Amino acid sequence: MKYRVNEIFFSLQGEGFNQGKEVIFIRLAGCNLSCVWCDTNYHPYTEYTVEEIMEEIAKYPCQSILLTGGEPSAQPLNELLNALKAKAYWIAIETNGTISLERYNGQIDYITVSPKKHINQFYADELRVVNDKLNVDYLSSLETKIQATDHFISPLEENGIMNIEDSMRLVAQMNKHSNNRWRLSLQLHKLIGMR
Ligand code: SF4
Repeated sequence: MKYRVNEIFFSLQGEGFNQGKEVIFIRLAGCNLSCVWCDTNYHPYTEYTVEEIMEEIAKYPCQSILLTGGEPSAQPLNELLNALKAKAYWIAIETNGTISLERYNGQIDYITVSPKKHINQFYADELRVVNDKLNVDYLSSLETKIQATDHFISPLEENGIMNIEDSMRLVAQMNKHSNNRWRLSLQLHKLIGMR
């Protein structure tokens, strides 16, 4: 099959538990949601075969992949995951959680769910929630629904400003009754002007 690829590039993971880790970003085009504050231009794409993707990523001195989007699981991932695993890549994915990843069981090494709407992916290594005027009740319901090892609140950026103080308050509120499980995740790439 051919994948609709928005961009492939090498950089540092900007957010969450793996912040600062060198990864090759494979941004797949398209998304099944359309969040009003989305800051990713995921629409443009070039079609790549799996072989072409493998050729492209082989240019970088890195064995770690981050599948992102858009919503990466909106395209069937089996062929790509098989090829990546055959070359022993470590594979992470960032998903909005609306599509279950159950069928890829064992093929993805690290799952970040960043929920925006209904949930169909109920486990994750990392639950990372963008603070779009969130509240404790909503976060508590997510915490119950999605079994995750790590929990992050990520400030929303509006007009170039991140709502960091508001997000810190939310982290503190959540930690009052959740065993200090929640942490703030700043978007390093935006703070230092990195891709
Ligand atoms: S789910 Fe993510 S990529 Fe899709 S529209 Fe929302 S913020 Fe953008």
